Amino acid sequence: MNQTLIEKYGLHRPEYETLLTQYVQSVAALFDVPVAFLGISDNDTLWIKAGVGTAVEQVPLHDAICNLVFETNDLVYIPDTTQDPRTSKKPAVIADHGVRFYAGVPFSIQSHTIGSFCVIDSVSRTMSEKELKLLSGFARHVGQQVELIYKNIRTEDEHQLLNNSPAALIRWQLRPNFQTSYLSANMSKLLGITIPQDVSLFKLDSVIHPDDTDNFLFTVRNHQQGAEICECDFRIKVSGNRATWYKLVSRAIFEGKTVIAIQGLLLNNTEQKYLESRIMDTNERMRLLLEASGLGTSDWDIENDSLRVNNRICDMLKLHPDSVDTQSMFWMQLVHPADKEKLVSQIEHSLKSKNAVVDIEYRIRDAEGQHLWVETYGKVVTRDEDGRALRFAATHRNITEKKLAELHAEKQRRLFGFINHAQNLFVAQKDLQLACEQIFPELMELAESAYGFIGKMECENGVPCLQIYAISDVSWSESSKAEYNKFKQGELRFTNLNNLFGHVVTSNSPVMANKPMMHKASKGTPSGHPVLKRFLGLPIQREGKVVGMIGLANKLEDYTQQDVEFLTPLTETLANLFKAVEVEQARFEAEERLAYLAATDPLTGLMNRRAYFDQIQQRAAVSNAPHGLAIVDIDNFKLLNDTYGHPVGDKVLKEVADVLRRNIRNNDMVARLGGEEFGIYLDTEDNAVCQHILQTMLEQIQQITLNTEQGPLNHITVSIGATMFRKSPQAIDTTYFDVAMKQADDALYEVKRSGKANIAWYGKSVTAINKPQLSEVKH
Ligand code: GH3
Ligand code: MG
Ligand code: MG
Repeated sequence: MNQTLIEKYGLHRPEYETLLTQYVQSVAALFDVPVAFLGISDNDTLWIKAGVGTAVEQVPLHDAICNLVFETNDLVYIPDTTQDPRTSKKPAVIADHGVRFYAGVPFSIQSHTIGSFCVIDSVSRTMSEKELKLLSGFARHVGQQVELIYKNIRTEDEHQLLNNSPAALIRWQLRPNFQTSYLSANMSKLLGITIPQDVSLFKLDSVIHPDDTDNFLFTVRNHQQGAEICECDFRIKVSGNRATWYKLVSRAIFEGKTVIAIQGLLLNNTEQKYLESRIMDTNERMRLLLEASGLGTSDWDIENDSLRVNNRICDMLKLHPDSVDTQSMFWMQLVHPADKEKLVSQIEHSLKSKNAVVDIEYRIRDAEGQHLWVETYGKVVTRDEDGRALRFAATHRNITEKKLAELHAEKQRRLFGFINHAQNLFVAQKDLQLACEQIFPELMELAESAYGFIGKMECENGVPCLQIYAISDVSWSESSKAEYNKFKQGELRFTNLNNLFGHVVTSNSPVMANKPMMHKASKGTPSGHPVLKRFLGLPIQREGKVVGMIGLANKLEDYTQQDVEFLTPLTETLANLFKAVEVEQARFEAEERLAYLAATDPLTGLMNRRAYFDQIQQRAAVSNAPHGLAIVDIDNFKLLNDTYGHPVGDKVLKEVADVLRRNIRNNDMVARLGGEEFGIYLDTEDNAVCQHILQTMLEQIQQITLNTEQGPLNHITVSIGATMFRKSPQAIDTTYFDVAMKQADDALYEVKRSGKANIAWYGKSVTAINKPQLSEVKH
C-alpha cells in the first residue's frame, strides 16, 4: 500500500485522528447531511479519512466523485448526480440508495491539494452560495490545523533528535536584560551540570572555565554590535580536573535592525579540540624543528598542482618570493637535466606506493644560474579513500658544500689511486709508453676532457721535441691516422713547438685557453682536427725544468685553476716516472757497458778468456756436437817486443786479432786468452773445414806488414794447436773444457817443439796435420 502523501504529512498518526473526526462530524451536523469525509488522493486510490456515515475506507480514484475536485482543484457542487453527465455513470450514483447530492472543496496542506473535503446526501438537494463558502472555509481551516499539527510533530521530532544529539540549543533574550530564554532538554546532559528549573536563572558564563570566559563574552558583544553569525570555543568547569571543550555556533535574531535575541548551538568539541591541539603541537614542534635545522619545506597539493614552499627555499635559490610560481613545472625546470629523470621516477614511485619516500640528492639551478646540490626527503602525507595521493610534503637541504667536498675527495681519491696504478704499471712493465697508454683513458675521465696527450721532452738532432707516450685516438683524417699509427709504434714526435701546446713547454708554465683561438700562441688547428673548444696544457717539471707536458682539450665546462691544482700530483708523478725511465735507461746502459767491459779484451776488442770459457760452457750445456778448438800463439813475441818495443807488440796483437776475427764464421768464436795467445772455437764437426779456417788464419798472419821505426816488420808467424772435441753426456761442464784446452795446448806445444809457424792437431804429429782425428773428451 502506497501511502506516501498520508505518510508524508503523518495523517495516519493518532494526533490527527480526533481533530479530523471532530471537524467532519461538525460539518455533517452543520449541513445536515448523512455522509461527510476527508478524501485523500494517493496515486490511484481515494482514502477516506474521518468518515461520517460511511464505512468505506478506499475506492479507486477514477470511480470517486472527489476526483473531479482534484482535476479542477476547485469546488465541485452537484445538486443531482443523476442529472450531471460527470457523475451519472459513477458506481456510487448507480448503486441502490446511491449518491444523489455531492459538494466537495479542495483540501490543501502547504498550498498543496491532497484531497477533498466533501458532504454527500442520498437525495438531491441544493446549497446556497453562503453555505458553499462556509464549506470552503472549513476545509481551509482543517488544512491549517493539519499543517500546524504537522509542524508540531516535526518540531517534536526535531526536539527528540536534538535531545539525543551531542548538540544543545540555547537562546538568550537581550531585552529587557540579557538572560537565557530557552534551553533544549539535552543541555544538562550535554554540559554534565544541573540546570535550574527556571531557565532564565541559567548563566552560561558562570560555568565556563575562567580562562575561556572572554571568548564567550566577546561573541555576545559581537552579536550585540550586529554580527550575525559567530563561533567560539570554551571549556566548561566540571567537578575534578576534567574540562570539556565546547563549540558555540550562534546567530543573532533581528527585529528590524535591532538584535533582540541570540540563538546558539552548543557542541561537545573535546575530541576535535584534542586532535587540533595535537596537530597544532606537532606542527609547531615541526615548524620549530625545521626553522632550527635550516630546512626548506614544500607542500604540494597534487590535485590542484599547487606547490607552496617556505622562505628558506627562496633564500636558498636566491628567488624572490613573488617570482615563485606554485606550479610543480616551475620547480621541475630548475632541476639539472642530468638529475631530472632520477628525481621524477622517485616522486612518481612515492605517489603510487604507500610508504615509499623520496630520498635523493640532485642539482637545482638558482636564480643566478648556479647549480646547487640539494637533498630532498619527502613523502605523500594525505591520500583519499582510494589511496590516491593528495598532498606531498618534503624537506630540502642545501648540501652543495658537503657534496662538492665529497666529489672533490672522490676525485682526489681516484686521482691518487690512478697515480698509484700508473706507478705500479710502470714498475711492473718498465715501459713508460705502455703505462701511459693504460692510464690514459682514466686520465681523460678524471680531467673530464675529450682529447689529450702525454709527451716527454726529447732531443732530435739537438732540437727539443715532444715524444708522445699517450694520445687520444686522433685518427680523424688520413694524415692524422698515419700520425696515430706512428704513435702506436712509439714513433710519434711533435717537433714543431711553435703553437698552443708547444707554448706549454717553451714557456714552462700551464696554458689555460678556454677560447683557444684567441690565445696568442694559437696557430689554429690542423684541417680535419675536431674543433678545439678549450685547451689546458700542464708542464711536467723536474727541478724547475720542463721535462714533458700533458695536453687536455674540450672539457664541457671551462678549465679552471682548480683543474690545474687537481692534476698537479699527476704531473709530479709523471715527472718522477720520466726520471725513473732515464735512470733505468742509464742503469741499463751502464750494465751493458760493464758486461761488455767484463767480457772484452780492451786492447783487441776481442772476447776475453773468461767470457770465452762462459760462452763455450753455455753452448756445451745445450749441445754435445763435436767442435773445433784451437790455441793460436804468436811466435817469438818476447823477442819482437824486445826488438821493436812494447807499443809495436801491441799493434801486432791487434793486427793478429783482426785476422782471426775476419776469418771466423757466424757461430764461431775468437778470444784473447792472455798475452800473445788466442782461442778459436769453430762451430763445426767437419775437421777439414776447421783445418781450412786455421790454415787461412795462419797464412794471412804471415802476410801482416807493419811499418816501424826500425823499418817494415813482416814475417810474423803463429803456432796453432788444435783439437776436435765432443762433450760426453756424463762430462761435467767445467772439467771437460779444461781437458779440451789441455789437448789444444799439448798440440801447440808440439808445433813449438817442431819449429813453430804451423798447425798441429792433438794426438797427431805435426806432419800428420792433414789427418787429425776426432778426440772425444771424457771428464
Ligand atoms: P814462443 O815463440 O815460444 O811463444 O816465445 P815467445 O817469446 O812468444 O813466448 P814467451 O812466453 O817467452 O813471451 C811472451 C811475451 O809476450 C812476454 C811478454 O812480454 C809479451 N807480452 C804479453 N802480453 C803482452 C802485451 O799485452 N803486449 C806486448 N807488447 N807484449 C806482451
Ligand atoms: Mg805464449
Ligand atoms: Mg809466443
